[in-house]
Amino acid sequence: MQPLKEYQQKRRFTKTAEPAPQKKSSRSGKLFVVQKHRASHLHYDFRLEMNGVLKSWAVPKGPSLDPAVRRLAMAVEDHPIDYADFEGIIPEGEYGGGTVMVWDRGTYTPESQMTSDFGRGELKFTLQGVKLQGSWVLVRTKGRQWLLIKHRDDEYVSTADITLSDPRSVITQRTLAEIAADEGGNVAKAATGDPAGLPRPVKEGLKRRLPATSAK
Ligand code: MN
Repeated sequence: MQPLKEYQQKRRFTKTAEPAPQKKSSRSGKLFVVQKHRASHLHYDFRLEMNGVLKSWAVPKGPSLDPAVRRLAMAVEDHPIDYADFEGIIPEGEYGGGTVMVWDRGTYTPESQMTSDFGRGELKFTLQGVKLQGSWVLVRTKGRQWLLIKHRDDEYVSTADITLSDPRSVITQRTLAEIAADEGGNVAKAATGDPAGLPRPVKEGLKRRLPATSAK
């Protein structure tokens, strides 16, 4: 199958603000991004740049910094590199309809040969993100089912739940509800993806000027 064909087939770019494939690689060539996505279910999309696309996994519970915790990661279709900049609303009724946040972003360093390791179903890499750092592994168990596990390294492990302690966007510092409010999404639905006790947006429909989010 040609690269990104499944990505294109699932989307109508006249309806969604998601990017059509354009850029072939980032400056580093080793981009990673985690997008928190309140669609029909809340999940975290974990993406690693490989051979001009973002290899992607949907992680329902999000990453854990605790090496004893194995998080289910379902492999999904490759995404274009430009997708790493996408934060906003996918219209209801479209594929993945809901609110998307750039939860973490940075670069990664492969700990071995990524392309052949992908085929074997075992990827080892070090993350240089804002929230996620240190050594990680993605290992395939069966079919599209993988596990995302933090490797033991003294500096970056923790038993604290980073999805609760650090729930905001790394590029705009917004909550899911704030993104929905700013961009005309479903605020009540988005808010169910934010941890309880976070302040809710006071004003709906407020358009804020966003800072440049370029990771290029
Ligand atoms: Mn998703």
